Amino acid sequence: MDFSYNENQKMIADMIQQFGKQNITPFVREWDDNQTFPVDVFKKLGELGLMGVLVPTEYGGSGFSYTEYVTAIEQLAILDPSIGLSMAAHNSLCAGHILQFGNDEQKKKWLPKLTSAEWIGAWALTEHSTGSDAGAMATTAVKDGNNWVLNGAKNFITHAISGDIAVVMARTGEKGDSHGMTAFVIEKGTLGFSSGKKEDKLGMRASETAELIFDNCKVPNENILGNVGDGFVQAMKVLDGGRISIAALSLGIAKGAYQAALQYSKERIQFGKPISHFQAIAFKLADMATEIEASELLIYNAVDKKNRGEKMTLEGSMAKYYSSEVAVKVATDAVQVLGGYGYTKDFPVERFYRDSKLCTIGEGTSEIQKLVIAKQIIG
Ligand SMILES: Cc1cc2nc3c(=O)[nH]c(=O)nc-3n(C[C@H](O)[C@H](O)[C@H](O)COP(=O)(O)OP(=O)(O)OC[C@H]3O[C@@H](n4cnc5c(N)ncnc54)[C@H](O)[C@@H]3O)c2cc1C
Repeated sequence: MDFSYNENQKMIADMIQQFGKQNITPFVREWDDNQTFPVDVFKKLGELGLMGVLVPTEYGGSGFSYTEYVTAIEQLAILDPSIGLSMAAHNSLCAGHILQFGNDEQKKKWLPKLTSAEWIGAWALTEHSTGSDAGAMATTAVKDGNNWVLNGAKNFITHAISGDIAVVMARTGEKGDSHGMTAFVIEKGTLGFSSGKKEDKLGMRASETAELIFDNCKVPNENILGNVGDGFVQAMKVLDGGRISIAALSLGIAKGAYQAALQYSKERIQFGKPISHFQAIAFKLADMATEIEASELLIYNAVDKKNRGEKMTLEGSMAKYYSSEVAVKVATDAVQVLGGYGYTKDFPVERFYRDSKLCTIGEGTSEIQKLVIAKQIIG
């Protein structure tokens, strides 16, 4: 297998690096300090074709495979993991769900708005009382003629305030029935649909995370994706792809932190020589480089299966689990390599350290990934 970047990947990486110099890097600190979600940047990413990377061109997307998608998230994450996270939620969760399970009319209606970033997308599964145990959700949808009436709330939703459209999973059957949930598309402005508390977070502070509230929210029948009762099963399939997103995000964070630590270790002189000459530091760098390489191999293994349309639940979970833990470890070690300076906001490793932790939590915690992996291998 050839793991070097193909022409599309090179083009995407160059484009993001160029774009980032003017539009991302100068503002990262300010967005992080103020928890600013930079909507304008996402509009511009839409113009670059990065808000519909996996969507076929007939629906306004770029029509790329997961190979190019991983590169886009990784490169954005090196610049600012928050931008990578939001881009991933929009692409693989919201647009991805509509692309995989919407009918042609629904795809034509919503995907071009998402791929152009005219609309920002959200995807809502998690609730206050149900995170890992998402199937026990309490938000209900009750049929009322040609409409469904939703009541309840979703928690920790990326783009819950700035989003223009959300794919929402709600209970339409019995608790405990995996076929008792349905996926609805809800547009901003729908009566009874609003956003609530914005979270004040440790990291990923430029990615907006807030609550979505449904108060007798009336959604027409034609906004159901697929069949009534398929929502939870659909969501699990969407998360299979989503795990590649978080793995790619983790890879970008690990690479960003590693590159910063490597450069600093060559420049910082203590006891008359660069600190990279001390074996304790050199071995940290060796571990980082090796673990990043291993993450990359696991990710491209999952990507390969996904691109071929094969089931990749096991490979996706392995890639997500391993690379997210590596991101946390590499970012932690990078802070150590920079010593006191790593503990300040003057160097990017402090932010990578905070941002990395989301990767072991979002779209299925590390513990849940181990459960998925164990189930796949044990049966
Ligand atoms: C920044 C951010 C963005 C997010 N964006 C979205 C979004 O856009 N859409 C969305 O739907 N959700 C989103 N989430 C929610 C995220 O997916 C959940 O936080 C995650 O699934 C974990 O759920 P929880 O927080 O309720 O933790 P819990 O499920 O309460 O878990 C708490 C702890 O218990 C452990 N645990 C739980 N069950 C088991 C078990 N069976 N065995 C072993 N250990 C277990 C967990 O691993 C964890 O360590 C986001 C979260 C964050 C922080």
